[in-house]
Amino acid sequence: MPLKKLLMIPGPTPLPQEVKLAMAREMVGHRSKDFSALFKEIIPMLKKCFQTEGDVMVMPGSGTIGMEAAVANIISPNDKAVVLNTGNFGGRWTKILKAYGAQVVEIKYAAGQAAQPEDLKKALEENKDAKAVYLQHNETSTAVLNDVKALAEVAHQHGVLTVVDSISGLLTADLPMDSWKLDVVVAGAQKAFMIPPGLAMVAVSKRFWDAQKNSKSPKFYMDLAWYKKTYDEKGETPTTPAISLIVGLHEALKLILAEGLPNMFNRHERMMRAARAGARALGLKLLAEDKNASRAVTAVSGDFDCEALRKIVREKHGITLAGGQGDLKGKIFRIGHLGYAQESDILVAYSAIEQALIEMGQKIEIGASLVAIQKEIVK
Ligand SMILES: *Cc1c(COP(=O)(O)O)cnc(C)c1O
Repeated sequence: MPLKKLLMIPGPTPLPQEVKLAMAREMVGHRSKDFSALFKEIIPMLKKCFQTEGDVMVMPGSGTIGMEAAVANIISPNDKAVVLNTGNFGGRWTKILKAYGAQVVEIKYAAGQAAQPEDLKKALEENKDAKAVYLQHNETSTAVLNDVKALAEVAHQHGVLTVVDSISGLLTADLPMDSWKLDVVVAGAQKAFMIPPGLAMVAVSKRFWDAQKNSKSPKFYMDLAWYKKTYDEKGETPTTPAISLIVGLHEALKLILAEGLPNMFNRHERMMRAARAGARALGLKLLAEDKNASRAVTAVSGDFDCEALRKIVREKHGITLAGGQGDLKGKIFRIGHLGYAQESDILVAYSAIEQALIEMGQKIEIGASLVAIQKEIVK
């Protein structure tokens, strides 16, 4: 019998049955009344997820297209931008900004460290001509949750736009866009939205539109004003939307709003606690400190080959864990716990991890992580 599979990477995540069935439906025309009606329902639902009254645009493409749109629509060549680089995805902001000819002031942090408001304050005082600050809500590569509220406050005091990649963060931890005065928040389909990859959601503030009008970077497909105009005037998308993904998104949004954001944040926080309790019980190291621990993914290391561990867990137990990215390749493994995931998944993963560690000759006490996790769950 083929192994039952459990995907525990920080996106794509497993899909709820409701989403899979909805996505199997026959095509509808994207200029039809039926599709327009569906799309009109989706936008207000998305606004609830971003906790904003501003505009939300849905772009076909992976999350990165939303990041690029957040650069192309703000930055003109030679504009200055500050990047808070807490890992691989922070580095992606720098690369995109440079591709658009921006002058980048990058503050780079060691793996596992969160961005510090004092550092941003200093950078903005030294660079008074900076236009925007680019950061991650949840840095997936190092499993760090940044204090977006505090960072955005500093940005706001200095009159720069705050652009947040929350591709893996949104819905896993609170991010009230309007009350924290964020100007752009980017999310992605395949993370906590529980649908397959292929959509980026970009939420923007009024201040963003002022900057957008003046941005001189060339853009066509990525011109967010085109999206807004077509939504507002026709209730349609500018180009052919990814219809099946949008239909799946509609189902996922129903599930998300039925659970409710506070419950969703709580579920992710509980999974984070369980994953950390398991690692500690086995004497493994956690890359991020408790105070900036990601709710979406946990990065773990130990005195063994993490890639060998992942191979055993995948091949013998059907569970896919993520490896390290960039410099962290081979040095850590990451347990994804976002979207369609629950505490019992963490237990199953640690049972496989324990068995693999024993197979690899590690001296651990069998069941130690399972006891610790269950104690955490019933607490
Ligand atoms: C997954 C992810 C991305 C990249 O998204 P793609 O869909 O691969 O383009 C960007 N930023 C963060 C924080 C992510 O977790």
